[in-house]
Order: sequence, then C-alpha cells, then structure tokens
Amino acid sequence: MVEKILPNFYRIEIPLPGSPLKSINSYVIRNERNLIIDTGWNQDECLTAMQAGLGELGVDINQTDFFITHLHSDHLGLASTLTTETSKVYFNKPDADRMNAGIPLDDLIRFARLNGYPEKELEAIPLSHPGFKFKAKEELNFHTMKEGDRLDVGDYVFKCIETPGHTKGHMCLYEPDQRILVSGDHILQDITPTISSWSDDWNPLKEYLASLDKIYALDIKLVLPGHRRIFGNYRERIEELKLHHRERLEEVLSILREGRKNAFRIASQMSWDVLYDSWDLFPVSQKWFAIGEAIAHLKYLEEEGSVRKEMQGQEIFFSLTGIHQKA
Ligand SMILES: [Zn+2]
Repeated sequence: MVEKILPNFYRIEIPLPGSPLKSINSYVIRNERNLIIDTGWNQDECLTAMQAGLGELGVDINQTDFFITHLHSDHLGLASTLTTETSKVYFNKPDADRMNAGIPLDDLIRFARLNGYPEKELEAIPLSHPGFKFKAKEELNFHTMKEGDRLDVGDYVFKCIETPGHTKGHMCLYEPDQRILVSGDHILQDITPTISSWSDDWNPLKEYLASLDKIYALDIKLVLPGHRRIFGNYRERIEELKLHHRERLEEVLSILREGRKNAFRIASQMSWDVLYDSWDLFPVSQKWFAIGEAIAHLKYLEEEGSVRKEMQGQEIFFSLTGIHQKA
C-alpha cells in the first residue's frame, strides 16, 4: 500500500507476517537519486510488497540510495536484496560496527544463560528469533553518518540526529523546513519501542530517555515512525513514553521487594501488553525481548544505585540496595 505524504515523499507499508508489529513503514523520496528509508525483513512477502510499491511509484532501483534508522532486521534486512552496485547505504557507525562484527549469537546465548534463561529454550533462539531468521543476506557497504550530518534528497534537506536507546546507534532524520522527523523506532504512537539490553557495556534506558529529551526540544509538525500511524502530538507522546518507563522501573523495584531474583524471573513477573495469558505461553522470541527489556531497566536501577547485581555460581542475581525502598 502506497500513500503520498508530501510532494515526492511516500510511505509504503511493508507487512511483517507473524510479528506483533504487523508492518513496517518504508519511506520513499523520489528524486534523480531516490532514497528509501528502512526496508523490511529479508523475506518474500516484504520483497513483494516493496517491489509492488516501487513499481507503482515508478522508482528505478538502479538510481536509489538507502537510509537505515537502525540495525534491526525489520528495518535493515531487505536492504541487502535491494541494493545495486551504485547504491549508497547511509547508516550510523555504532550499528554498522555491530553488523560488520556479525551477530555474536554465542555471546548472546551466554548472556541469556547468565540471566537464568532455561537451557532448552535457548536452543530455539536462532530458529525462532526474526532478527536472526530475516537478517540481511550479506554484508553491506555502509556509508556512515553522524550527528548533524546533512543528507540532501531533492527539495528535502535532512539532518541526522543521533538517538541512541532502542539500539546503540539509532538515528532519526529531521527536516527543519518541513518540520518532519523520520523517527525509526525511537518514537512510535500506538506501540512502545522496546528498550532492551543484551550486554553490560551500556545503559540503554538512560540513553533513550536523554534521546527523548533531545527530540522534545525540536520543532516538529509530523512524525514519520517506523511502525503504525503517522502523528503530530510528539511532545505528548514523549511524556507518555517517559512515564511508561518510570512505571516500569517502579514495577521492577516492587518485584525485587520480594527478594533476590534473576532477570528471567523478574521478566516473568512484569506485566506485558501481549495476547498470551501466561508467561509460559510466551513464544521463545517474545520471552527473549521481555528479558532484554527487564535487563535494560535493571541496568538503569543499578547505575542509579537502587539495585545491586551479584554473581552466584553461574548466574546473575539482582536485589535492592535499600535506597528507594518504599513500603
Ligand atoms: Zn527496531
């Protein structure tokens, strides 16, 4: 489905079959060199929808460059199939480094095990996680962009805005004259972007909250998100997202008031806005996201001093330090 947003600026809705996200918004700007922003998974239904949309718009893929907001497979995956010899793929450096290093599945599994993930479910991860199943088929030659870099596409002059949090390198595009923000998965209207962590070397929630403040300060008329509806009331949405995470942090603290737990246990007790009646019914990939999210919140609480992390045997446990302990 193709929808015109502004002159020469379109949205193609690319389906994500089986995913709670439902679809991804790919944005296409027609020009001598066209630009496609985000692409869909590297699989057939995404490719078919993309090709139909580009056909309807008369876009010549041989005259097309790409901008990818972040490394997740629903945004980057199909790019490797669509790019041609002349394509530039604009991408941020932290995510590009991560992609070029390869997805260190063994490291992720080791980390999951340390956090209490049951052994038999770990084996299913590479097969069930869409991030692994539908990733880009080959290495892409990225043209890396940083904060403030300019990207000219016809009448549109975009500014790159680093918005780490959803991923380490997540990047939005801002067009100050048109007052539009291509927000990737930094701000979404109908769903909450996941903030999760699978390593101990950064504090994604802290960075995400700072990135929200950064966008709050911009003058924006229209937010073009990576999923679901285009919207305008971004400051209200940012307030909601900040409140959501404050409530999540409170929830984690209240779960820990019962005593010391590993991240798997904590995630199983958090409330999740999903269709499954109980934690045991969560598909493996949904549990994976949930634990990543729990760990991101635990990391935030640990750095702020209200949660303590300790190794016992081969497992990591979290407990309250005493600060913030309310009745
Ligand atoms: Zn994402």
